[in-house]
Amino acid sequence: MIRYSEITEKNPREIVLLRGRGCRWRRCRFCDYYLDSSKDEEANYELNQEVLSKVTGKYGSLEVINSGSFCELDAKTMGEIEKVCREKRISQLRFEAHWMYREKIKPLKERFAPGTKVKIKMGVETFEAKFRENVMEKGMGGAEPEEIARYADEVCLLFGFKGQTEETMERDIQTGLRYFERICVNLMNPNTAPLQPDRDVIRLFLENVYPRYRDNPRADILVENTEFGVGGDA
Ligand code: SF4
Repeated sequence: MIRYSEITEKNPREIVLLRGRGCRWRRCRFCDYYLDSSKDEEANYELNQEVLSKVTGKYGSLEVINSGSFCELDAKTMGEIEKVCREKRISQLRFEAHWMYREKIKPLKERFAPGTKVKIKMGVETFEAKFRENVMEKGMGGAEPEEIARYADEVCLLFGFKGQTEETMERDIQTGLRYFERICVNLMNPNTAPLQPDRDVIRLFLENVYPRYRDNPRADILVENTEFGVGGDA
């Protein structure tokens, strides 16, 4: 699997896909990425160390993803990330976090300060709370954007399911841009999870919504989930 890449557009940064012990939530009905995990922390560390050795620091910005949340990375890997940030002068570091880990975010930011500013990207998927919880089973309860913004700097949105409309997708993007520094819109790609993409909703997004935000510098839009260059086959 490809685990290192560079994102050269909009918000240039290096990106690494590390391996953790696996998502603790594991219930989102659209997700099977948590399969990229291992309980063998030493093996994870060895793999992660090798991936992190590719980081050059050329943009001063690094995104770390691990098919889960930063809390699911082992302690030695976290130490290695710290070392890389220091040695390669990374001033901005992104991590992913599920809502259930929100109280761990402040200590994480303090750990990397002042040299490296940590930004948290949270998978919210949609601000339509009923849909998010009843259909997607995201595990965020009724959390509203104001509350989420107290913890997350950026959000991921996920579109392409039956029940989502042009209006809800537009509203999600508007809300995301209003409350957060950046948004990352993902279009649902077929996988092995129970909830699968709806072709009509995908078409609606691509024809009517996408053109309005394609060039927005604060919005990453991934039509294919490997567009950041990681996660595909080497
Ligand atoms: S989307 Fe994220 S939080 Fe939900 S099950 Fe998958 S890895 Fe876990």
